[in-house]
Amino acid sequence: QAKRGGRNRHGFFTADLQARSVRTLQIENALRRALERGQLELHYQPQVSLATRQIVGAEALLRWRHPELGQVSPAEFIPVAENSGMILAIGEWVLRTAVHDAKRWLDMHLPLPAISVNLSAVQCRHPQLPEMVARCLRQAGLPARRLELELTESAAIDDPAAALAMMEQLHGRGVRLSMDDFGTGYSSLSALKRFQIHKLKIDQSFVRDLDADANDRAIVSAIIRMAQALGMQTTAEGVETEGQLEFLREQGCDAGQGYLFGRPLPADAFEAYLRTHRDNQATAEHVGS
Ligand code: C2E
Ligand code: MG
Ligand code: MG
Ligand code: MG
Repeated sequence: QAKRGGRNRHGFFTADLQARSVRTLQIENALRRALERGQLELHYQPQVSLATRQIVGAEALLRWRHPELGQVSPAEFIPVAENSGMILAIGEWVLRTAVHDAKRWLDMHLPLPAISVNLSAVQCRHPQLPEMVARCLRQAGLPARRLELELTESAAIDDPAAALAMMEQLHGRGVRLSMDDFGTGYSSLSALKRFQIHKLKIDQSFVRDLDADANDRAIVSAIIRMAQALGMQTTAEGVETEGQLEFLREQGCDAGQGYLFGRPLPADAFEAYLRTHRDNQATAEHVGS
């Protein structure tokens, strides 16, 4: 009986693995054509000052809709793009599109001080990355200080010496760097001190249960105080409730990103959001004066 159960479990496990690798292959094949077929799109999510509620930036988030596979989550297709090397071409498209959109909104005098773009660890290891970034900025005509690149801890620890050199080059060109999903990786505090990191993004897993979990409150407040001591800014990810916002503001967190402030929106809808925000601000200033 026990043996049969074991074999069934084993059979199920194998079938599951096969299904998963079939899906990975499907995604890999479909992704090869996604760029040229115009299936990739960027959505933008606002980052908001907790003190003033003003927009301090927006994160570009990649979306892929395939005619048969439907909407595929970046959490699923980014790893496939990394393992197949396609992330280099896709990542360059993301950067070019994001800085181009940011420049258009800058020219329209919309209230968006900076644009954030995610970098994969594979891109971070690529020696031509700083040049590629500089080229995109130059072609779009966007000032470097208006671009923020989000790295993960794994990008920084795989090869700390190379990561340090890459960060110094980008920092030297005036680009800002932030550490994404902070607290979930394995970066050492001594490495963090040496890196040219401008901002820590507190991972949403610590923010989610802030209302109920005293340990999460302790971790978040420690991250904020450490960042302040190191001269870094903080942005909390996944802010969904007024309670979370209240705690983060009390602790001195600089900015927040999450459904409470706005969901990721396609470029045209995000542009309308920026316009509404600007008009509300103008009205508030008028009433205030
Ligand atoms: P991330 O960089 O940490 O992005 C934040 C994720 O949190 C996004 O998921 C966003 O939609 C989601 N989010 C924002 N506010 C809330 C909230 O209030 N509650 C909850 N539950 N979630 C919220 P998304 O768009 O599915 O992206 C997942 C991950 O995929 C990103 O995590 C990033 O690691 C990666 N990714 C997305 N776009 C790119 C890209 O262009 N290049 C690279 N290399 N990675 C990307
Ligand atoms: Mg990010
Ligand atoms: Mg994150
Ligand atoms: Mg994340």
